[in-house]
Amino acid sequence: MKAIIIGAPGAGKGTYASRLQQKLGVEVIATGDIFRELAKQDSDIARKVKGFMEKGLLVPDEVVIEVLKQRLRNIPKGKSFILDGYPRTLDQAKMLDAITKIDVILLLDVPDWIIIERLSTRRICRNCGTVYNVRFLKPHIEGICDKCGGPLYQRSDDNEEVIKKRLQVYQEQTKPLLEYFKQKKLPFVTSSTTSLDQPPEPIVDKLTAELKKLELA
Ligand code: ADP
Ligand code: ZN
Repeated sequence: MKAIIIGAPGAGKGTYASRLQQKLGVEVIATGDIFRELAKQDSDIARKVKGFMEKGLLVPDEVVIEVLKQRLRNIPKGKSFILDGYPRTLDQAKMLDAITKIDVILLLDVPDWIIIERLSTRRICRNCGTVYNVRFLKPHIEGICDKCGGPLYQRSDDNEEVIKKRLQVYQEQTKPLLEYFKQKKLPFVTSSTTSLDQPPEPIVDKLTAELKKLELA
């Protein structure tokens, strides 16, 4: 299975992708995680990437495309993967078409009001990247990761002003891709979230069941 998981920031791409990774044994390529790691380095490119991310803007296509190509090269031939956070622009989608064939689009449909509530209360494990929420998906011990005991932190782009910008960028630059995928007749597996306290497990189970129907899981 070669899948793209797509949805607004905070729709749960990372959460579901990592659960599907455990359940199905697939690889996950998360460009946001790759850029957050890159941004920690002391180099010109790192500082540039950090600048875009902190403003809620997209990293320029030429940088993203290079990073993705490198990462895809490290995936063993025939191994299933989920792309989380890529493609985000039409040019990125076209580049992907040129190097591999995607089987399915996992679409996470979440209303803006839920996204804003969720992102402003989101916390992430500094060590393993597991996603929590101080209101809706709490760790057993406050501030500590259930899985690895690592410290939880808030992403610097998870503040109200930058969240609004990221949502706008999604609407303008990424959402049009759905039309592009439809034209290419790619199958969609869609999950719609309608309440703030919806737990992830039933959604992951539903996504898995739909993938089985398509003979992809
Ligand atoms: P979210 O989907 O929650 O906004 P991500 O962790 O996927 O967050 O991405 C964080 C940031 O990394 C984005 O706001 C953007 O600046 C950058 N980024 C990630 N993936 C891409 C991409 N494919 N193209 C351009 N920028 C990207
Ligand atoms: Zn952890």
